[in-house]
Amino acid sequence: MKKQRVMILGTGPAGLTAAIYAARANLAPLVIEGNEPGGQLTLTTDVENFPGFPEGVMGPELMANMRAQAERFGAQFETGWVTDVDLSKRPFKVTVNDTDVYETESIILSTGASSKRLGIENEIEMTGRGVSTCATCDGFFFRGKKIIVVGGGDSAMEEATFLTKFATEVVLVHRRHELRASKVMQERARNNPKIRFELGMVPELVQHDGQKVTGLLVADATSGEKKTLETDGIFVAIGHLPNTAFLKGQIDLDPVGYVKTIGVTSATNVEGVFACGDVMDSRYRQAITAAGSGCKAALDVEKFLEEVGVHEDSVTV
Ligand code: NAP
Repeated sequence: MKKQRVMILGTGPAGLTAAIYAARANLAPLVIEGNEPGGQLTLTTDVENFPGFPEGVMGPELMANMRAQAERFGAQFETGWVTDVDLSKRPFKVTVNDTDVYETESIILSTGASSKRLGIENEIEMTGRGVSTCATCDGFFFRGKKIIVVGGGDSAMEEATFLTKFATEVVLVHRRHELRASKVMQERARNNPKIRFELGMVPELVQHDGQKVTGLLVADATSGEKKTLETDGIFVAIGHLPNTAFLKGQIDLDPVGYVKTIGVTSATNVEGVFACGDVMDSRYRQAITAAGSGCKAALDVEKFLEEVGVHEDSVTV
């Protein structure tokens, strides 16, 4: 069995920043890269608000650079899906792809969050053929077309506003009559002449012609009456869910499933397990805040390993 001092689960900005810091602290971290290497930033194009890039930077390039920086200092990467963990005692056990079991003295959880789906018929099979969860990735393909954005929060307002750059019309579909979004984001969307609101409408079915999306069947939340909203694209912007299914019952999660951390630290209720980035942050969810929390997690791990007396020569790497 392979034994590590620290394993980092997830390779978004949080995990990769943790890897840079842990590697520079000579902890030779083993980083598990899931099936979305680089995390949500690889789904975006221009990142204009990451400090240090006055002209902006492409999301995938930023992540590739972070990864290269971590490798330069000795971080090891393995591709796989964490299927199970045993956090009941140290060394902890981490199972990757159901088969590879690692032992580790500490863990940094940075598995991020993924877009929520509506769970309606044809939604998954039409993803990539008119259904999308990422306006910045796919908006360009809808130049001169009609788009629906589903959701009533800030993400939906932001995506709807952004998509008016490409679309002839954006219809915002929300299941209630009240929007959840902040006033300022609502105002911006409401003042945009290309955005039309269909409130109190519950999405029921994605309609298509076998090739591409043709419409969204919605039901009036009050009367139950159904109608088809014709469209070329459906952007689902109904929030995110943390990737913590493999942690259930092992560590304190909040009611939504985000990992709970203690005070201003990255520590969790399990000694030796730390969390950073979107897996523990439903509020800020920015690349820079994720990176900052990854740095904190690596510093916390370093201190923890020193306190419990885990040194380089006490572990086979
Ligand atoms: P959110 O605030 O949780 O809003 C999700 C929206 O989707 C809600 O309106 C919800 O409806 C709707 N929804 C959820 N599940 C649904 C389902 N199964 N079917 C239909 N509708 C469904 O998520 P978010 O908009 O992604 O924002 C998350 C956080 O990021 C917030 O704190 C937000 O302020 C922040 N954020 C900020 C900015 C910015 O400031 N630039 C941009 C994006 C996000 P209900 O209202 O009925 O629950």
